[in-house]
Amino acid sequence: MELFQYTAHQLQNLLKDKEVSAVDITKAVLARMDAVEGDVKAYITQTQDSALEQAKAVDAKIQRGEVISPLAGIPGAIKDNICTLGIKTTCASKILADFVPPYNATVMEKLGQDTVFVGKANLDEFAMGGSTENSGFYPSRNPWDLTTVPGGSSGGSAAAVAAGEAIWSLGSDTGGSIRQPAAYTGLVGLKPTYGRVSRYGLVAFASSLDQIGPITRDVTDCAHVMNAIAGYDAKDSTSIKVDVPDYTKALVNNIKGLKIGLPKEYFVAGMDPEVEKAIRNAIDQLVALGAELTEISMPHTEYALSAYYLIAPAEASSNLARYDGVGFGYRAAGNDIVDMYKKTRSQAFGTEVKRRIMLGTYALSSGYYDAYYLRALKVRTLVKQDFDRAFEKVDVLITPTAPTTAFKVGEKSSDPLAMYLQDVCTIPVNLAGVPGISIPCGFANGLPIGMQIIGKPLDEETIIRTAYTFEQNNDYHKRFAPLGEVK
Ligand code: GLN
Repeated sequence: MELFQYTAHQLQNLLKDKEVSAVDITKAVLARMDAVEGDVKAYITQTQDSALEQAKAVDAKIQRGEVISPLAGIPGAIKDNICTLGIKTTCASKILADFVPPYNATVMEKLGQDTVFVGKANLDEFAMGGSTENSGFYPSRNPWDLTTVPGGSSGGSAAAVAAGEAIWSLGSDTGGSIRQPAAYTGLVGLKPTYGRVSRYGLVAFASSLDQIGPITRDVTDCAHVMNAIAGYDAKDSTSIKVDVPDYTKALVNNIKGLKIGLPKEYFVAGMDPEVEKAIRNAIDQLVALGAELTEISMPHTEYALSAYYLIAPAEASSNLARYDGVGFGYRAAGNDIVDMYKKTRSQAFGTEVKRRIMLGTYALSSGYYDAYYLRALKVRTLVKQDFDRAFEKVDVLITPTAPTTAFKVGEKSSDPLAMYLQDVCTIPVNLAGVPGISIPCGFANGLPIGMQIIGKPLDEETIIRTAYTFEQNNDYHKRFAPLGEVK
């Protein structure tokens, strides 16, 4: 095995035992980036020089015998919609192509000085999409099969980790953008409870749905990243003021007596039978490991997608109004101010972003507000109540993460509805604000399949424990993408 193929916790042990240095690890990842980035295109910006400096500083600390944090010296990638002080943050949009934030997102501050950042990862423009094909620069590729997409919108964050171009990464999830790419690339992806992780410095897409979370190679690394980033932040008025548990304490291989619910509405028409088979097999395993299964109904699931595609664009149309060529970002020349606004926004936003701005503006406009936006909010409440009722009976819910495995590059890019349908299993979780994790649970035609485990609000611990128990009794997480096989 090569250093870039280890998990963060394995590397941390090697560091502690002084078998390798942070510089060794970082150099291995940087060399890997040089070797495969041309094929994978996971990054928009690489920060190789500062990464090496950070690694040297960690080694010096270890030499001095100082205590280091669990992610110290372990190279990570950051989705390029998370503000990084002095490092370009583009949101994969031409409108922010040269934007250098004068401040760090709270998650960057929390990760702290010891962490090694190797780059800013590609995404669908402003996180709108499910394949990274909407990136304003270029699509990323799936390291399991370069003719397929790595999912999205955090596709670059997932592709980087799957290819060995980072050991862990941060993504953001508004309707599935952490969990779906994690599923397509055989990784673990957690969307925390809304308010668990600060959104300060995350460039807003749909503020009532957005959350930052980890994409990692196993559940243990997921717990470590959560420990680093979770917690109340006075700079985010929607962050929740409660204590954060030590998530590594939830890494317990035991689900005896755990009540799992299987919502029948999540096994939708059009689902790949191989995906369904893998999920049903995983559920049988969880039962064999001591869980109690209840089949339940969440009747409003079928309306969640439509509600999301009104609420998210409505919020986006408002959030993206700030890109007007005045304060920051791209500015086109114009004859007068209105002409300048028009040209700036026409030239620099991509097709999908424009589509959402128009959908959202329409849904919010006078005369249509009640019929569309307000109605969608009411549906959101009904979806949330489905979860409340389900969690009176069960501890966690199990569903597929996505209806299929990774699809071909170009297959859905001309059909927005087909693309939106990939999110049917993940979107209700964002509407309800509850936490959800995707873990690998099988393969179909050599491509990974993801299982989603959904938990009660602020109960990330139970989904981590369930995920960990499943992982420890399987070895899907140990397989490396073929691109990653070292000959
Ligand atoms: N694919 C979904 C969308 O396009 C979700 C995106 C996300 O979670 N950022 O809106």
